[in-house]
Amino acid sequence: MYDVAIVGGGVTGAFCARFLMRYKVSVVILEASDDVAAGASAANSGIVHAGFDAASGTLKAAFNLRGNRMMQRVCAELGVKYLENGSIVAACGADEERMLADLLARGEKNGVEGLRLLSEEEAHATEPALADGVTGALFAPSGGIVCPYGLTIAAVGNAMDNGAELLCGFTLTAAERSGEDWRLFSEDGRSVMARVVVNCAGAGAERVARVFGDDSFRIGARKGEYILLDRTAGSLVTHTVFPVPSAAGKGVLVSPTVDGNLIVGPTSVEEETPDVSLRREAFAEIAEKAAHIVEGIAFGEMITSFAGVRSYCDRHDFIVGWSRVAGVYLAAGIESPGLTSAPAIGVYIADMVAEKLAAERNEAYSPIRRKPPVFREMTDAERAEMIARDPAYGRIVCRCEQVTLGEILSALRTQPPAHTLDGVKLRTRAGMGRCQGGFCQPAVFNLLMREYGYRAEEVTKKGGRSYVITGGEL
Ligand SMILES: Cc1cc2nc3c(=O)[nH]c(=O)nc-3n(C[C@H](O)[C@H](O)[C@H](O)COP(=O)(O)OP(=O)(O)OC[C@H]3O[C@@H](n4cnc5c(N)ncnc54)[C@H](O)[C@@H]3O)c2cc1C
Repeated sequence: MYDVAIVGGGVTGAFCARFLMRYKVSVVILEASDDVAAGASAANSGIVHAGFDAASGTLKAAFNLRGNRMMQRVCAELGVKYLENGSIVAACGADEERMLADLLARGEKNGVEGLRLLSEEEAHATEPALADGVTGALFAPSGGIVCPYGLTIAAVGNAMDNGAELLCGFTLTAAERSGEDWRLFSEDGRSVMARVVVNCAGAGAERVARVFGDDSFRIGARKGEYILLDRTAGSLVTHTVFPVPSAAGKGVLVSPTVDGNLIVGPTSVEEETPDVSLRREAFAEIAEKAAHIVEGIAFGEMITSFAGVRSYCDRHDFIVGWSRVAGVYLAAGIESPGLTSAPAIGVYIADMVAEKLAAERNEAYSPIRRKPPVFREMTDAERAEMIARDPAYGRIVCRCEQVTLGEILSALRTQPPAHTLDGVKLRTRAGMGRCQGGFCQPAVFNLLMREYGYRAEEVTKKGGRSYVITGGEL
């Protein structure tokens, strides 16, 4: 029996849980996958949007701005890398320049500070890699970048350090009223009770709402494909460079990541049931669109590609509020800028739910999460000290990203612990470098077996039936 059950361990659910722990309430996160950050929160651009895109007066605009303003502090508290690198919207020609003026006006109306139109010369001086065809730009100094899965994992970890619980592999498929409470059933037969349910199920939010008898909104899905380039190409741009937006969205951007790579994408693909595979034509499409705004992208330095699925709502805005069904709160249709907005949505929902439950403040709550040691970021002196304290930090497992045995063991033992190869990768970057795990994955595989007592056939890439050895059969 919990006070609050949060359905979905993406960035929205993570921040709801984190901020709920400021109150004396018991909280459980119910996540269908075998790890948190399994949906859109793991595969997106990682941009902390300044807030000039969303239509004025919408929840998107309001939460975007608040989330942007909270992000620096939240990342400092959670030990997550964040960089306010500024965003540039690059216009090519007079028609697009007129759209910049509209974006500026909208941004100012939304409350975004420091927006500035740049002439052709100013734009090229600010970002020398802009393509020749760029004739003007909108500069937003408050745009930033963050690691989206790092943020989600850290927010869940901080919630758990403060007493929240996480149940993975819990796919909510049914619910029944029990007095004033809800009994929630998982596909596998488990059940929990909760006084309040918060629906943060991303692409599954419509299905989860229907479980409670709420069919008031539809969730659609659109795929976004990306190319990720090695660090050797990462310093091409210092700002996040967008094209002018279109009806299909914000367009293909070019940006450094907080870890020094270069990210190019996303596409926007309508599919009946979108998955996270890349279409054959995606690479050429991304390269062609990116070349309009940035030149000199070293596509030969590409190390991987991936795709994420946007879940948009037929109401064309975030749905954040009480459902028409008693005891159920909705955070649905959280498409972009949902990553940016997550801290603001989380604190808002936590306050609403705590008020409903008449919960008292939790004086013992700590917003601080101790950042696990990161060997590649240490000075030589810090490394020597770390190795003297724990020799496991003296053994490199992932050569490309310089990840040590100590960091991998920490990822298996720190809340929320990794149980899969991808879980270790998202927490430590082991397998994210140039060789994409060619050297380190067998070692990580063995560590998972040793730590959890798994048989080799039981180790998965990302939970479910993604068995590494048997390829899906067990
Ligand atoms: C291509 C792309 C690019 C984007 N770029 C940006 C960006 O640069 N900046 C930005 O601010 N935003 C961006 N976004 C938006 C942002 O990624 C999302 O808004 C955000 O991640 C949504 O988080 P969420 O927690 O609501 O959903 P998700 O991360 O999808 O999490 C939902 C979770 O619910 C779980 N779930 C579903 N059904 C059930 C069930 N029945 N029972 C239990 N669990 C369930 C899922 O497994 C999943 O883990 C982008 C999105 C995409 C797809």
